[in-house]
Amino acid sequence: MLVWVSVGLVALALAIVAKWLAFRRDSLGRPRRFPVISVAVLLVSAVAVSIPTVLRLREEATLTRAATGLTGLRTLHVHCQTLGEAFVDAGGELGLVQFRPDGTPEPSTIIKRDQCGDLADYLGSDKTDPTLDQIVAVHVLTHESMHMAGIRGEAQAECAAMQRDAQTAMLLGASELAGTKLAARYWEDVYPRMPDDYRSWECAPGARMDERRPDAPWAPITS
Ligand SMILES: [Zn+2]
Repeated sequence: MLVWVSVGLVALALAIVAKWLAFRRDSLGRPRRFPVISVAVLLVSAVAVSIPTVLRLREEATLTRAATGLTGLRTLHVHCQTLGEAFVDAGGELGLVQFRPDGTPEPSTIIKRDQCGDLADYLGSDKTDPTLDQIVAVHVLTHESMHMAGIRGEAQAECAAMQRDAQTAMLLGASELAGTKLAARYWEDVYPRMPDDYRSWECAPGARMDERRPDAPWAPITS
């Protein structure tokens, strides 16, 4: 939407320049001045209007690279919900991956607007002391990546994601220690408060869903 507003403003500026080129002298033969102010205002406005879109596309590229690093899938895409999409969104989930009728996942996810905002804040920080909202947002990216990798069940996706939150944080630029701490905080502070269908007794150290990864949230922090 904003892109089209931006394109419209550039088109208007070009139309004004074209009109000046076509009628460079007035009816008395005097040279007409180039409409510098109106063209400048239109072009500056076009740049200003396009900034949120450019920033969103940059963030989506960063998040997509992280999701690819997590899953090994080359063709997936992470989309950050736009303002217009958020306006008509009635869903309560923080991210979404659609599954096809044959049970395979679409290779794309929508991360909700607030969580993309938290991820942008996290990306812009030194990542040593993330807020709880930022920790949840990093986890949402991991969780939706697990869905894109083919895990459909919420408890299974949640458990696989918790064991990769440290990796996600590091793919987004955190140090190993900061990533490990982020994963541990999700496991300790957020996971116990998740709805029943997101939790499982089999998601615990030594239990069936434990993948015995060295960066699991329940692994001792060594550094
Ligand atoms: Zn899910």
